[in-house]
Amino acid sequence: MAASFRLPPLPTVSELIKLYNLRAERQLSQNFLLDLRLTDKIVRQAGNLKNAHVCEVGPGPGGLTRSILNAGATDLLVVEKDSRFIPGLKLLSEAAPNRLRIVHGDILTYRMDRGFPPSICKPWEEEPPNLHIIGNLPFNVSTPLIISWLENIANRTGPFAYGRTRLTLTFQKEVAERLIARTKSKQRSRLSIMAQYLCTVHHRFTIPGRAFVPKPEVDVGVVHFTPLVQPLIQQPFKLVEKVVRNIFQFRRKFCHKGIGMLFPEACREALTEEMMHKADVEPTRRPTELTIPHIKALVDVYAHMCIRDPHLRGYEYREELRLKHLAKQRGAQTGMPSGTPESPEQPE
Ligand code: SAM
Repeated sequence: MAASFRLPPLPTVSELIKLYNLRAERQLSQNFLLDLRLTDKIVRQAGNLKNAHVCEVGPGPGGLTRSILNAGATDLLVVEKDSRFIPGLKLLSEAAPNRLRIVHGDILTYRMDRGFPPSICKPWEEEPPNLHIIGNLPFNVSTPLIISWLENIANRTGPFAYGRTRLTLTFQKEVAERLIARTKSKQRSRLSIMAQYLCTVHHRFTIPGRAFVPKPEVDVGVVHFTPLVQPLIQQPFKLVEKVVRNIFQFRRKFCHKGIGMLFPEACREALTEEMMHKADVEPTRRPTELTIPHIKALVDVYAHMCIRDPHLRGYEYREELRLKHLAKQRGAQTGMPSGTPESPEQPE
C-alpha cells in the first residue's frame, strides 16, 4: 500500500533550510527545489519505485529525497558532498527508519558498485535491476558525471555492475537538448552520439529556472536514460570517444576535416580518404548530418586501421598542436628557429 511508505509530518524543506541555516552556496552552484509537487514529478519519471533501491546524488536539503521515499523506495542511499546538509538528512532518516542511508562523500569518486547488495544484480540482457539513480546536481558536476557513467555503461562497471541501471537526472536545458539531439538537428554534438549509442535517452520535461531557489540563469531539463542491451557501436568506449571528439571538433566544416585529425600530418590525406571510402561515408557531410550507423562504420574502420598501424591509436592532434606551440614559444625565447614555420590550425 503506497500510504504506508509516506513520511510522518516533518518540518517543510524551507523550514529545514531555516532551521539548519542552509544558505545555498552560489560558488557551488547550489539551487534547491522546494516544491514537492515538482520533486514528485521528477521522481515519477524514474518509473515505479515501490520497494526499489535508489541512489540519490546530491540530496542537499532533501526535497527530492522526500519524494523518493514517498514513492515507496525501501532502500535509498544518498551521496552528499556538503556536510551542512547531513543533520537535515539524518532527520529524514529518523522519519523513515531503515530506509535512508547517508554517505557524506563525493559522487565523482564514490564506489557505487559496493553500495548495494549483490542480490539485486540482473544479467545485462534481462530487464533492468530494481535500482535507480536520481539526482539534481550542479551542472558542472552532472555533465562530467554522465560522461563517466556512459563509460561505466560501456564497460558494465560502477552502477552498471548491477545490470542496466536506469538514470533520471537534471541538466542545463541546452545540455538536455544535446543529449537527445537527432541527426541534422542544430544541437547534435559529441554528447548526443556518446549517449545515444549506449542508451535510450528521453528529455522528459523542462523545469523553468524560476522553480529553483535561488533561481539559476537557465532552465533545467529532466533526462531519463536506460542502457541498451546491445550498444549501437561495439568498440571500446575510448576509441569511440576519440573518433567522435575529432569529428565534432570542426562541427561546421565537412566531416573529413575532423576525421583527418585522427592521423599525423604526413599521412593525413591518404588515410582520411581510405577511412571515408571504406566506411562508405561522404566526406562532404557535416558532423551534425552523420547518423549513428555512419559513426559506427567510421569507428569500425578506424579500429582496423589502428590494428594495422598501432601508432595511430596513441596519436592525438591536440597533443601535436600543444607540442608545436611549445616548440614555437621556445624558439621565440632563444631566437632560434622553432622548426614550425606555419602557425598550426586551431580547432573550433
Ligand atoms: N537535490 C537538491 C535539490 O534538488 O534541492 C539539491 C540540489 S543542488 C543543485 C546540488 C546538490 O549536490 C548540493 O547539495 C551539493 O552540495 C551536492 N553536490 C555537489 N557536488 C557534489 C558531488 N560531487 N558529490 C555529491 N554531492 C554533490
